[in-house]
Amino acid sequence: MTTTTPPDTAYVNCPKCGESITVSIPERDTELRIRSTVAAFGDHTKVACSNDHPFWVYYC
Ligand SMILES: [Zn+2]
Repeated sequence: MTTTTPPDTAYVNCPKCGESITVSIPERDTELRIRSTVAAFGDHTKVACSNDHPFWVYYC
């Protein structure tokens, strides 16, 4: 029997203005890297702060 756990969340800071944003991460204790440009590798999610600064969060 498989149980599904809800995704964990982590706080990241916008690289431009430093605003704290909550993002969903695939698993607990995942090391996150913040990038202001998209890279061609790795699992990632795109987020934006309330000041409309897009950035990417990569899971290591
Ligand atoms: Zn920002």
